[in-house]
Amino acid sequence: METKNIILELRNRHGMSQEELAGKVFVTRQAVSRWETGETLPNTETLKLLSGIFDVSINTLLGSPRKLICQCCGMPLDDATTSKEPDGSFNEDYCKWCYADGNYTYHDMDDLINVCVKHMAGQGFTEEQARTYMEQTLPELGYWKQHKELEDGGKFEEFKAQLIDELNALNVKGMPKVEKLNALVGAYVNLAYPMPNGANVKFLDDNATYLGNQLEGEDGRCFGVLANADFLLVSTYGKDCADPQLIVYRKR
Ligand SMILES: [Zn+2]
Repeated sequence: METKNIILELRNRHGMSQEELAGKVFVTRQAVSRWETGETLPNTETLKLLSGIFDVSINTLLGSPRKLICQCCGMPLDDATTSKEPDGSFNEDYCKWCYADGNYTYHDMDDLINVCVKHMAGQGFTEEQARTYMEQTLPELGYWKQHKELEDGGKFEEFKAQLIDELNALNVKGMPKVEKLNALVGAYVNLAYPMPNGANVKFLDDNATYLGNQLEGEDGRCFGVLANADFLLVSTYGKDCADPQLIVYRKR
């Protein structure tokens, strides 16, 4: 369907006159009329407003020129499964399971594969077929390519092993041994730690990728370890990252 028909249909479905819709998106009634005859297209800002009012993605308003797939899990996206930003606008890069409330759900490709394989196994795939498919597909998607930026042939594994040794050598009291580090998006692990002067301070870049893991302590609190080429960080926190405390933050 073309944009002109889509706008007309959505407007009718919402029981709005051209005048009413025009008022909501700050244009004249004539402008709405020109969209519906196909004379003009709404501009980008107006498309965003229409997307919000009709609760459909911009891709849908434009007649679905792009075949959207989730850049994390690979599932095809429609308006019901596309993720949204915390402000309610559509994020057309991800499904609502992989990106929810402004956070990415998966930080380890193996975790995601295990979840997907379980779902796919009931849908005519054997578990092995599903796993092979996912292992081939996921590395091509935007989200995981971004994760792979840190990788560099076998050197990356060496680098990870080195960071694991350095984190364990800190001998933090009560912390279990670090065995594995995963690529983590900064926004997911950027906790605000209370400083002795009373301020709460974040140390990470939300958009950068770090290596880290979460370890279960004995008293129910978790240890978070995090590192990159520049620093090592160890913190503890309670359930759902409550009451975070910075234990070590040092330059490498
Ligand atoms: Zn997804």
